[in-house]
Amino acid sequence: MIVFDLCCAAGDHRFEAWFASSDSFADQQARRLIACPVCGDSDVKKAVMAPRVGAKSNQLSVVAPARPIDAPAPGAISPELMRQVMADIAAKQAEILPQSRWVGRDFADAARAMHEGRAAEDLIHGQASPGEAQALRDDGIAAMPLLVPIVPPDAVN
Ligand SMILES: [Zn+2]
Repeated sequence: MIVFDLCCAAGDHRFEAWFASSDSFADQQARRLIACPVCGDSDVKKAVMAPRVGAKSNQLSVVAPARPIDAPAPGAISPELMRQVMADIAAKQAEILPQSRWVGRDFADAARAMHEGRAAEDLIHGQASPGEAQALRDDGIAAMPLLVPIVPPDAVN
């Protein structure tokens, strides 16, 4: 599951939508299956991401849950339900974060090592560039954006 910030061409309304993959988004966008929840315009594109609190400018905060957090398939979900689901996921992430190990910039390597069995399964969170996060998803490695703001321990000094 991947979340994109989208905006419509007609009114520049911003909204979030979940997709199974980037390809799935591109496909639905090309077929104009994604409509703005405010005005119904189907000419939507990715919005420029707002910087996340505590993250370095070009870094995403990501978490690799040992057990995937359940999220419904995208598509026939109303914006209200989606907001509820997002709040749900954020609450679950806030709950698991204290047990999660901060790995900072080693996130991509650490997640890959666990995926390939070179390291014990663990709950980790850290930072990855958008390219690294995409590469992880391409390899089927569970990594999802953190919906709760975090302050990296190494950003305090
Ligand atoms: Zn709109």
